[in-house]
Amino acid sequence: MAGRVYNFSAGPSMLPLSALERAGAEITNFQGSGMSVMEMSHRSKVFQQIFDDTQAKFRRLMNVPEGYKVLFLQTGASGQFSMVPLNLIGKTGKADYAVTGNFSNIAYKEAKKYGEIHLAASSEDKNHTYIPAQDQLKLDPEASYFYYCANNTIYGTEWSYVPDTGDVPIVCDMSSDILSRQVDVSKYGIIFAGAQKNMAPAGLTVVIIKENLAGHELPFTPLMMNYKTMIDKDSMYNTPPCWCIYMLGLVLDWLDEQGGVPGMEKIKHAKAQMLYDVIDASRLFTCAVEKGSRSDMNVTFRTGDEELDAKFVKESVAAGFTNLKGHRAVGGMRASIYNAMPTEGVEKLCDFIRKFDKEN
Ligand SMILES: *Cc1c(COP(=O)(O)O)cnc(C)c1O
Repeated sequence: MAGRVYNFSAGPSMLPLSALERAGAEITNFQGSGMSVMEMSHRSKVFQQIFDDTQAKFRRLMNVPEGYKVLFLQTGASGQFSMVPLNLIGKTGKADYAVTGNFSNIAYKEAKKYGEIHLAASSEDKNHTYIPAQDQLKLDPEASYFYYCANNTIYGTEWSYVPDTGDVPIVCDMSSDILSRQVDVSKYGIIFAGAQKNMAPAGLTVVIIKENLAGHELPFTPLMMNYKTMIDKDSMYNTPPCWCIYMLGLVLDWLDEQGGVPGMEKIKHAKAQMLYDVIDASRLFTCAVEKGSRSDMNVTFRTGDEELDAKFVKESVAAGFTNLKGHRAVGGMRASIYNAMPTEGVEKLCDFIRKFDKEN
């Protein structure tokens, strides 16, 4: 579509063009209802159908087994940093956290308000450029849960394995890699993700929760932060983020056309590999992340010279790429190449990097 740029934003980020176009076509009158999805009662039949369809598509694409609920909540992924300990820590009063970046660190600090939180692993010693191995995790069998963040959006690292925690339930923040790779949901107690990286506009948080983990919240848990409230009312205790849920349904239709999650996994891995290969083969650019820990979603790289990095970013904008400047905590550049970033966008970025490498 004319005028659209390759947007490498870390989030909110690109959505599939076909989903945006469908939303555009239906924006004033959704399928003959005479109104926009934005204007509908969340208790109406027509919205209930949208809700049920989106739930069913999500469950099918993620292979969510029996015994798990899928919740459509608000307050962002960050809201889960509080909701998880409030609901789960009561079991033993203790929990294990792996801190591998910015968001797991915030979650770790937040959880400390509610119990005895143990640092099971940290990658801070090397500025979060690697993911700790299984044998580096210091696990407490008495922990109420083990917490980690699957993909570190800011540092560009991603866990390539699911930790083995024995009987301790695993809680995972998948905000920036959900639906990009196959996940065995049965290995987890809770998976949560803010929608604005790989799923939908900001305002929706998807939670997959093993049902028997709910109902043990601390007594002062706010009503709206209680998983049980939301499970009992099927995410409709209050008004859910209706528009975002509708958009998620459209994005899931597009994902289906890409071969579902297995299809997407191949596509996204090929895109990331292409970019890492160009960076590794260049004279100027390096990626600080250790090879087995590199993220397929957020590719970080730099020249080592701040002025040259700034020149790269400036010229990239002129060439039709946006949001390649790295996070202020890391510097350099970051290309966020979530599901909706077309392969063509990554190919063009690779050409641009090669050209810049030759000319400077
Ligand atoms: C973006 C992001 C968050 C924060 O999400 P909000 O919805 O803004 O609260 C948390 N965790 C990860 C891994 C993220 O990428």
